[in-house]
Amino acid sequence: MNTIMADMKNGIDREMIARAGEILRAGGLVAFPTETVYGLGANALDEDAASKIYRAKGRPSDNPLIVHIARMEDLYEIAAQVPEQAVQLAQAFWPGPLTMIFPKKPCVPKATTGGLETVAVRMPDHTAALELIRAGGGFIAAPSANTSGRPSPTTAAHVAEDLGGKIDMIIDGGSVGIGVESTIVDMSVPVPMILRPGYINQEMLRGVIGEVVSDPALFTADAKEPPKAPGMKYRHYAPKAQMLIVEGAQDSVILCINRLVQEELQKGGLPAVIASEETKSSYEGGIVCSVGSREEEISISRHLYAVLRELDERKVTKIFSEAFDTPALGQAIMNRLIKAAGHQVLSV
Ligand code: AMP
Ligand code: MG
Repeated sequence: MNTIMADMKNGIDREMIARAGEILRAGGLVAFPTETVYGLGANALDEDAASKIYRAKGRPSDNPLIVHIARMEDLYEIAAQVPEQAVQLAQAFWPGPLTMIFPKKPCVPKATTGGLETVAVRMPDHTAALELIRAGGGFIAAPSANTSGRPSPTTAAHVAEDLGGKIDMIIDGGSVGIGVESTIVDMSVPVPMILRPGYINQEMLRGVIGEVVSDPALFTADAKEPPKAPGMKYRHYAPKAQMLIVEGAQDSVILCINRLVQEELQKGGLPAVIASEETKSSYEGGIVCSVGSREEEISISRHLYAVLRELDERKVTKIFSEAFDTPALGQAIMNRLIKAAGHQVLSV
């Protein structure tokens, strides 16, 4: 299949949006930018179209998709019950990086919800995404536009790397702003529960609706219960090389990583370090990448996946990363980093 690349880095191309809308209405696949990561879109109400997403990504069929909408009133078309707290959260954070889970209406096929009776819904904060959703019929199922298991794409080039030739169109909106996937909150239970941390953190949610809890499975590798968002149980966001996170006081972390780098070099390997702007000059040997500045947390989330992809390309043999438990985005960043490392964390 020839994948059309539609350049919208410098603004909306109306003709291409119309064409993308036709593709979606006809059951095809269009990748598009959002403020979080690139999504792979299909008509969420068309079972065959939704199934195509799973095939293109190699995604397990029990891993549900998020339905993207562009108008608040459309929520009521697909959600059977919308509690008042969800309306308050939508008013506060939509359009934005917040996904909410509701009991689904019958019009949403099981192919879209991974067999579940609930549906995940989000309104993205991105002009091209919103235009595309409207052009495509209003209900666009869109997981991240990567091959299953790889880091989520934060540029159109990442999407092309994984899905070029397998999908109908990629809309190029340049690099994304946030860089990690949306916060997922389950609104179908008595006390709203965070199933996946993201830019909208627990404190921000509490500021609007009061009590919000987190899925306990988020914080341990071997919880008795599996995570409540099916996708969170899969090996995810993962680079090809083995990765280790080193946490602790800054000086100890630097000392430890420098020692591990030397050991890997002596074995003939090519080690890489994921550092910050503040610490990058303290490392010697191997490849040193700064993922961003601790003073500007979003620069870390924004670049994290691109760094993991780059290290894959450079065929490094080991990755040693600092921990980034920064105040507002720390949970979201560390959740992805710990998964990328297969839960290998060393405390020094
Ligand atoms: P992605 O868009 O690739 O980030 O994947 C969507 C994420 O949303 C996955 O982790 C899914 O498990 C989660 N998700 C989607 N729908 C539901 C649902 N109805 N219940 C729980 N988790 C969901
Ligand atoms: Mg994903």
